[in-house]
Amino acid sequence: MDLKSGYPFWTVRSGLIDPFPALEGSVECDVAVVGAGITGALIGRRLQRDGHRVVLIDRRECGWGSTAASTALLQYELDVEMVDLAARHGDAAAALAYRASAGAVQALSVELARFRRIGFRRARSLYFATRAAHRRRLIAEWERRRDVGLRVDWLESDALRRAFGIDAAAAILTRPAAEVDPYRACHALLRAIVRDGGAVFDRTAMSGFAVRSRDIRVETDRGASVRARHLVIAAGYESQRWLDARVARNRSSYAFVTDARDDLARLRGVLAWETARPYLYMRTTDDGRLLVGGADDRIDLPIVRSARVAAKAAKLAREAERRIGVSIEPAWAWGGTFAETEDGLPFFDAHAQYGPRVLFALAYGGNGIAYARLGADVLAARVRGRAHACDRLVSFARLDRRARVDVQPAR
Ligand SMILES: Cc1cc2nc3c(=O)[nH]c(=O)nc-3n(C[C@H](O)[C@H](O)[C@H](O)COP(=O)(O)OP(=O)(O)OC[C@H]3O[C@@H](n4cnc5c(N)ncnc54)[C@H](O)[C@@H]3O)c2cc1C
Repeated sequence: MDLKSGYPFWTVRSGLIDPFPALEGSVECDVAVVGAGITGALIGRRLQRDGHRVVLIDRRECGWGSTAASTALLQYELDVEMVDLAARHGDAAAALAYRASAGAVQALSVELARFRRIGFRRARSLYFATRAAHRRRLIAEWERRRDVGLRVDWLESDALRRAFGIDAAAAILTRPAAEVDPYRACHALLRAIVRDGGAVFDRTAMSGFAVRSRDIRVETDRGASVRARHLVIAAGYESQRWLDARVARNRSSYAFVTDARDDLARLRGVLAWETARPYLYMRTTDDGRLLVGGADDRIDLPIVRSARVAAKAAKLAREAERRIGVSIEPAWAWGGTFAETEDGLPFFDAHAQYGPRVLFALAYGGNGIAYARLGADVLAARVRGRAHACDRLVSFARLDRRARVDVQPAR
């Protein structure tokens, strides 16, 4: 499966970062993690902090999957507005999802702020009304978030233009939020795992696994194997291969960076996105470029996606120009696969197909990196045999479309 079209900016800028060996022979550990993208790295690191011996394997170079294509806006806001999530799963579940996601962004920020040279910066998220007609919907969203204690400010169009140079009817300004270079962040986490006694192997694919009474044996394409008590499958959009039931739909998303520019200082530390679907979003990079993304479509064929990258970048540039009133020229564009679940929530759960010791980490959605951090806590609790407040929220039980997440209101 080709997860990217073109070379994402982060990989071109940094090249191959850390070489990890391929796995030869057999190793044992407490938890084997398949997939060393940002999800596997965050989960591996979290499990290691709990005292587990972890081994990660990846069939590509680490971080070279969709992690490298990510534009890495770290926001607690889900692609599905809180109002819509409440209609689908109830008020308590929507509040839990948004609060847990905010907690995940906060935890992620603390964790990533420790690393140097990964382009990390705390930010604010700005969710603006694409059209004047979206204003009423945005007010309902703002009120709902405010009522559950999230930090949200309301901005009228004048204030929005003055503060950020963005032309829109109104916006919600919120935090926590952050931005990062996802490829470097992934490698920083993997390096920390190795430094603290874990092991990371790349160019090593899981070809199969056997769940036995006392352990799980992971077979690799190189004839090597990993024996572990638990297996976490964090293989991104390729995880579907291990599940009989379809759990999400693959989509394509597009992005570009401009050359570095000094006339967009007002957008520094701001993650701007809009109420339209598919949405346009903008952030800046640590080297002063504007990064614009969005224009998602239902394409799941890499060859078709690749053919669209230039036209999508041009379209995104025109839309961004309209919004911020300055001319924008894409300098480097790319596209990538991402996946969407029916209700916008991810899956971090064991599946009935394999029993409780095989855990899936499917951080699907536009804010997959925040989801991955939340999932790391959920799966860490699972490995210790404990429950987590978000278990139902991220459970495969949601695949029954009539199912609502049954969460008790917080007191
Ligand atoms: C253009 C674009 C923009 C995005 N923007 C954002 C954003 O702004 N904010 C955000 O939070 N998210 C964003 N996302 C989503 C985010 O990138 C994903 O949630 C994240 O990258 C998923 O990471 P992952 O580790 O789960 O998947 P991956 O990075 O794909 O890692 C999975 C790894 O598993 C490995 N693997 C697969 N099969 C096997 C096997 N059999 N054996 C061993 N290894 C295997 C793969 O080689 C891969 O390295 C964006 C995605 C795209 C494409």
